[in-house]
Amino acid sequence: MELLKEILDRAEGLAEELSALRREFHQYPELSHQEERTAGVVARYLENLGLEVATGIAEHGVVGTLNGARPGRTVAWRADMDALPLEEKVDSAWCSKVPGVMHACGHDFHMSIGLAAARLLSGFKDRLAGTFRFIFQPAEEGPPKADKSGAPGMVAAGVLKDPEVDAICALHVAPNLDVGVIRYSREVVMAGSDRVFLTVTGKAAHGATPHRGVDPILVSAQALMQIQGFLAQRIDARHPIILTFGRISGGNRFNILADRVELEGSFRYLQESVRQEVQQGLKGLMSGLAQGTGSRIELNFEPTYPLLKNDAALGARAVEILGEVLGENRLKLHHPAMGSEDFSYYAAKVPAFYFFLGVRTPGVKGQALHSPEFNPDEAALVWGLKAAAGLLASLSEP
Ligand SMILES: [Zn+2]
Ligand SMILES: [Zn+2]
Repeated sequence: MELLKEILDRAEGLAEELSALRREFHQYPELSHQEERTAGVVARYLENLGLEVATGIAEHGVVGTLNGARPGRTVAWRADMDALPLEEKVDSAWCSKVPGVMHACGHDFHMSIGLAAARLLSGFKDRLAGTFRFIFQPAEEGPPKADKSGAPGMVAAGVLKDPEVDAICALHVAPNLDVGVIRYSREVVMAGSDRVFLTVTGKAAHGATPHRGVDPILVSAQALMQIQGFLAQRIDARHPIILTFGRISGGNRFNILADRVELEGSFRYLQESVRQEVQQGLKGLMSGLAQGTGSRIELNFEPTYPLLKNDAALGARAVEILGEVLGENRLKLHHPAMGSEDFSYYAAKVPAFYFFLGVRTPGVKGQALHSPEFNPDEAALVWGLKAAAGLLASLSEP
């Protein structure tokens, strides 16, 4: 397609603009629910391009809409905006100017790519088909406050409506992938997750007379072993699952049995039916343990993120487009990741495609996301822009 080629040719010319935007965002990171300044920069940029802009959505969300001249489909691009509570350890002229806050998850990259794509496509609006919606979403790092913030807040506020969005795409930077490489999964991309609350109530007693009480610390130890045993041997090993506990607390003195122990953890799964099987199985297991030990055990699962699934048909088309735009040799098919992402809330409503953009300098060991040393290679920005603009311009064709 002639138009697509022209758009991509012009992407290279935006390399400096992309870096400037990224450095601007990187220097002034804002935590989840506080992205006020960031939202201002985004909204002004989109307004200057002549887009219809809505602000203050689900706290600090911004949405820009660009109309092509020809009839077509409505496609959305989502970029997240929040930073993390970390003290940056990367030394650069554009390092974080805000003590204790850092863009360590690459959302500065995501926003810059979204804005540059809006700029690039708005230059071709007289020849483009369909409608483009650029969604800048706050508070991705969550957990979301019910339907008030993050992706569920944006969806509840109607960003996928008027007009109805036919397809939505997004990318995330990947520090374990070279610049210029794209990683994707066919359907399930990332795990669904539930927060787990386990409370064991026993009976306090003197440390010298445990037979007069019920020791919830001992019961908790048994619970932990039984839970991992259940996951390892009662669930079909071909279905990946993880349950880890990150917090345990109970008791207040070395020679008194505690009366209660609380544990909190995270459960991740790649299949809804397996999630149900694990939740029910573990509840049964814990009720048996409570009976056997004379304790009371409560086990609760609080949904945090749904499974992130790419739409099969859209995914196949998107991979085809990315192959045309970037070259098929740059695409890598990958198994799903056990992390979670709130983009899954959009994907639960409309056909979605989510993929990863390599940001590692070839030959250099990349630092992980959420690390104070995370230092993505800006050469990746143009690749991200080409991918975004290529997908949007192609998918909006009727
Ligand atoms: Zn993150
Ligand atoms: Zn992130």
